[in-house]
Amino acid sequence: MRPHRAFVTLIQPELELSGREARHLAEVLRARPGDRLTVFDGRGLEGRAVVLSLEPGLVRLQVEETWPAHRETPQPVTLYLALLKGDKLAEVARAATELGVAHLVPVLTQHCVVRELGEGKLLRLRRVVVEAAKQSGRSRIPEVASLLPLSSIPRVEQGFVAHPGASARVRDLLDPQRPTALLTGPEGGLAEAEVGLLEDRGFTPVTLGPRILRAETAPVALLSLVTAGEGL
Ligand code: SAM
Repeated sequence: MRPHRAFVTLIQPELELSGREARHLAEVLRARPGDRLTVFDGRGLEGRAVVLSLEPGLVRLQVEETWPAHRETPQPVTLYLALLKGDKLAEVARAATELGVAHLVPVLTQHCVVRELGEGKLLRLRRVVVEAAKQSGRSRIPEVASLLPLSSIPRVEQGFVAHPGASARVRDLLDPQRPTALLTGPEGGLAEAEVGLLEDRGFTPVTLGPRILRAETAPVALLSLVTAGEGL
């Protein structure tokens, strides 16, 4: 089994874990003094730590060694994701974290059925990316931004918007050495005027094939072309 990975905000020689992390280690993984685990700070540093002691809700660790982790894409990938119904944003956030996204930006578009992203949902998304980062061995935790209207998306250096009927293919255009922005639409799709606005901001409309993918499948497919498909 891979060693457990614990997220800590700052790696110091001695650490204390509390709350959910401490309970998980003590009650689920049944850690004992002397057991070793990996700690990571979500900003690129990892370390090996040994359990010194466990009390209810408090685990003390000593860090034995740290190293800079290298499991991130060479350039950041930002996913602009239209608001989706139900818990689908969280499903996409989990998969996008596994696929190496650096920034996840929920976006409000004309045809979004859901029109707002409450504080509770945003916190849930942020918890989901932390868990997915731990499980997938990420060294950085993706940032989840607050809701952005599509018209406020900034001009990007290299961007792709998935749009049914487009003919350009990501693999013919992608330069993996440049920061990349991706965008996918909601269940009802993007309005042509929105696609035009995105083109003005540096996004190229691209195809994901002749079939219509669900709004929660498309971002995963698009992201896969940019990271997994390139071995990044
Ligand atoms: N009837 C809608 C339309 O024509 O845009 C379908 C929307 S689809 C369910 C949701 C989003 O997934 C789209 O806005 C687009 O970003 C993406 N998408 C789905 N299938 C696609 C495909 N074959 N090529 C490119 N993008 C696709």
